[in-house]
Amino acid sequence: MQKHIEISDVVRITPTASVSVGAYGGRAKCLQRLIRLGLPVPATAALSFRAVRAIAAGDMLDPEPLLAAVDDAPLLSVRPSSEDPDWGGPGAILNIGMNDARHAELTETLGPAAADALYARFIHSFAVHVARLDPGPFDLPCRPDRATISAMLQAYETEREDIFPQDPTAQLQDVLRSMAREWDGPTARLLRGARGAPAEAGLGLVVQAMSLGLGAPEAGESGSGVIQFVSGRTGLPQITGRYLPQSQGREALDGRNDAMMLTRDPRGPSLQDHCPEVFDELLRAGDLARARLREEMQIEFTIEAGRLAFLDAVRVTRNARAAVRIAVALAVDGIIPEAEAVLRIPPAAISQMLHPQVDAEEDGDLLARGIAASPGGAVGRLAFSSRAAQGFALREEPCILVQRETSPDDVRGMHAARGVLTEKGGVTSHAAVIARGLGLPCVVGATGLAIDRRRREMTLADGRRLREGDLVTLDGTSGLVLGGAAKLVQPAFDDAFRTLLGWADEARDIGVRANADTATEAEVARGFDAEGIGLCRTEHMFFEGDRLSVMREMIFTDSAPDRAAALARLLPMQRADFERLFAIMRGRPVCIRLLDPPLHEFLPSGRDALHDLAEALALPLSEVTARVEYLSEFNPMLGMRGVRLGLVVPEIYDMQARAIFEAAVAVGDVVPEVMVPLVSASREVELVRGRIDAVAAAVRAEAGTGPGADLEYRLGVMVETPRAALRAGDIAAQAAFLSFGTNDLTQMTYGLSRDDAGRFMGTYVKQGVFPEDPFLSLDEDGVGELLTLGARRGREGKPDITLSVCGEHGGDPQSIAFCRRAGFNYVSCSPYRVPMARLAAAQLAI
Ligand code: PEP
Ligand code: MG
Repeated sequence: MQKHIEISDVVRITPTASVSVGAYGGRAKCLQRLIRLGLPVPATAALSFRAVRAIAAGDMLDPEPLLAAVDDAPLLSVRPSSEDPDWGGPGAILNIGMNDARHAELTETLGPAAADALYARFIHSFAVHVARLDPGPFDLPCRPDRATISAMLQAYETEREDIFPQDPTAQLQDVLRSMAREWDGPTARLLRGARGAPAEAGLGLVVQAMSLGLGAPEAGESGSGVIQFVSGRTGLPQITGRYLPQSQGREALDGRNDAMMLTRDPRGPSLQDHCPEVFDELLRAGDLARARLREEMQIEFTIEAGRLAFLDAVRVTRNARAAVRIAVALAVDGIIPEAEAVLRIPPAAISQMLHPQVDAEEDGDLLARGIAASPGGAVGRLAFSSRAAQGFALREEPCILVQRETSPDDVRGMHAARGVLTEKGGVTSHAAVIARGLGLPCVVGATGLAIDRRRREMTLADGRRLREGDLVTLDGTSGLVLGGAAKLVQPAFDDAFRTLLGWADEARDIGVRANADTATEAEVARGFDAEGIGLCRTEHMFFEGDRLSVMREMIFTDSAPDRAAALARLLPMQRADFERLFAIMRGRPVCIRLLDPPLHEFLPSGRDALHDLAEALALPLSEVTARVEYLSEFNPMLGMRGVRLGLVVPEIYDMQARAIFEAAVAVGDVVPEVMVPLVSASREVELVRGRIDAVAAAVRAEAGTGPGADLEYRLGVMVETPRAALRAGDIAAQAAFLSFGTNDLTQMTYGLSRDDAGRFMGTYVKQGVFPEDPFLSLDEDGVGELLTLGARRGREGKPDITLSVCGEHGGDPQSIAFCRRAGFNYVSCSPYRVPMARLAAAQLAI
């Protein structure tokens, strides 16, 4: 049985009515704020989420109170009002109430042109958006007339086998029902889900008396427009928008060449010249709205017979850079507190700003052009499926995912890719929405591309063919796809960004360091104001240039003196590495991890490479082959690596410790931190510490009374094995700090290879075995329990021990929240994630 909707779910919006965002949506609340400012807003009523849900379920709305709430206005508009305007909603329907009788009346009062336009527009919207008829027969000409109306009414009757509804109340009920149901449909759910809305997000509706924007010219100016006072692209003050005489809704923005600029413009007429008083009134309203709504708003207005009316206001849509500038300017002007500016920027938006851009100075080989759907530039190899993208990611080769269009199944492939290119779709397509969320450069609707997924190739408009693995550059800022690897320019920070992060730093109570192995990474980290280096993986240093051959020599030595000689050659190279890092990070802590991987990773495989090595070392091939075979392990990740190697071949750690200490003495102003990887027993740390203490003592003794005589260092342990977490109490007694390596800890807690999991992770997540890939997002229930337990036991073992996380999770806002709750001192993440981590950490503390 149909129920009637409660009267309390329909309110007239007045300054004092109870209209909460949580019950009536953001648009309803915003209109109430405009009304409270004393701005001329036509009579408006709001329907609650509950009412709209009931309408969608088939309940009847008693129209009387609703119509009374809008002063029984002859024509009405209905607009969506979701809790967060970014979640979208069905399009607005205007001119509800138009019928034959009203058309005749308005022909008398407004003149035939305005009356015809109003009726034709309404028939168009009702037929297409409410009756859901094919739009073709309802296309609107520029100046509709009586003949247009007759044709449209006839088309409606033919298509629907019913006459066009004439009863205004029935029209209104149909519009409300259609909008309520659209919100419940799968497309709307998918779209708003991608924008972060909960599955059950509510929709409110706003019903408003129409202010027409159309009228008899002799009655005075009529028209409509949209104005905003900052640029959504730069965030800088700039009046933008358009005004179109004799128009409605957002038509002024439709790109018509008779639309006017707002401010005086040499290229044509402007609202400022055409209606100076209205223009001044808009400026005053803009100032008032900014100050009192505490936001930059885009305002929709009409002029009806010379009178200005404000119909709607929404937050100016903005990119990440503009969002930061706007929030900082509002705080600098004293409109919002600094802490609120910090809270207003979603951390993910920051990662978008940090994307490199394709150098505009360069002329590339243009392959295709599409819609710029998510900003930033990316260079990578073409991958024609999510699986291929994951394969490239495993091999650490950047790739660009190419699809005709993407579906939720492709999210994993998008995670693995550096950029996304689709043949179909627009700015709100799945690919575009998800890519923006992930901060991935994305181009959609690339015209002229023909993708053949089966053959793993695509044909360009000019007939050229590209295959999987071919290198391209994607420019998500301009919508271009270029051949080969174009030059990318690294992002630059503006003052507003620095100011915002400065405020964030004042608020946050957990430290943020960077994982940096090279001087370049350290420079990026320093530029992003990382508090120090939380993890320098030294193994990467041994792969560079001629070091690899010295390293191999060292591995092949049989006698202690020969090994010492090879290590002595590595020592100055390592010392130079550390001197550079200490100099760049001057005054900030630098945590260096001693060698971690198994030795065989430094050795070649394959006959030719083995032959080359034999030649370089002047050893028989058989000896080299035997040595390589001896060093290879069945399960190298669980073999002789990390501290185990450090104990079996202790001279390697001795050399590294000496390089660290000598570099610290040479550069000065640094207390180096030395970290022991893959520990599982406190005795391992005790043994390593004994030797490193001895090296430190030797370096001090060599310094005599000069610099270095008072050398200090801190020894720490990486907690990467479950046993280290369980035994954190005794391990802490040996260490100044514990740094949880959540990459290995996740691998070992699950017994899940970090290098092979990609093959089946998709299936696992799809089937709900894991809610998310635990290597991306910390598994709080399992690995998290080990972190909490390890942190507690570590603190019990040594109350002033420093605790940190340095796995990939260190840059993930949710994982940062977890670490903060568990009492960690800092997180350490890749340099580019540092700004996001600083902001996310601040938001937790505010
Ligand atoms: C870890 O295991 O979490 C870690 C930071 O070390 P790596 O990634 O180098 O193994
Ligand atoms: Mg590790």
